[in-house]
Amino acid sequence: MIQCCCGMPHDLGRRGLLAMAIAAAVVPARGHAAPASAGPADPAVLDDLVVANHILFDQGVVDGFGHISVRHDKDPNRYLLARSMAPALVAADDIMEFDLDSVPVDPRGRTPYLERFIHGEIYKLRPDVVAIVHSHSPSVIPFADTKIALKPMNHIAGFLGTGAPVFDIRGAGGPATDMLIRNNALGKALAVTLGPHPVALMRGHGSVAVAQSIRHVVFRAVYTEVNARVEAQALAMGGKPEFLNPQEAEAAMKTNDGLVGRPWELWKRHAEAKS
Ligand SMILES: [Zn+2]
Repeated sequence: MIQCCCGMPHDLGRRGLLAMAIAAAVVPARGHAAPASAGPADPAVLDDLVVANHILFDQGVVDGFGHISVRHDKDPNRYLLARSMAPALVAADDIMEFDLDSVPVDPRGRTPYLERFIHGEIYKLRPDVVAIVHSHSPSVIPFADTKIALKPMNHIAGFLGTGAPVFDIRGAGGPATDMLIRNNALGKALAVTLGPHPVALMRGHGSVAVAQSIRHVVFRAVYTEVNARVEAQALAMGGKPEFLNPQEAEAAMKTNDGLVGRPWELWKRHAEAKS
């Protein structure tokens, strides 16, 4: 445990604290010029991002809250995320561009999500990540709050095989936050907790899922929620679940990574039929 400059002891370690200090230092001062745009994103990427917003609502991952972003296809130092609004209502014109400090490029009066720092800080630490979902999907929260480990119950959730670490905001934010990731320092602390994993849980809040594409991250966000539901059922039966072992989980994840297009097409048709 380390005594932080904020006065709170936590276990981020010296590297984590240093990274947090650097992240805080690079936040542009008030009045700083807006970052330059990377230019128009691939229309297919924008279309997938809008559809993903609708799917995540239709599949019960997000409600009025929660969001999904994608790294800009023209510049890895920019990302795309809707303005602050319910995901089910997102259209192409609602998509905003941000730099990795989560400063909007061209807000045009649009209000960004308070918790956009989740996205920018994970993109900084994880160059392999192309898309991120943050949600409060309800079945996951008991695992975040009890610290009962969320592990793969079947092959579809093989991506959970490396575990889902739990982020506790008290470590970086102290005992009296509103639980929101509302600045770069908190986003950095969450990204450090996520580490190399595809999913991290957030105590008293929700979760984040990351992946190599929009379609992969939607798959992971949906099946994180499903797996949590199934695992809770097994625990309620009084049994001790036999989870996939690490080798099974990795092999299943590789197989599923090639199959995410199948549920995507189904979910897309179902979501768009309602909108
Ligand atoms: Zn949230």
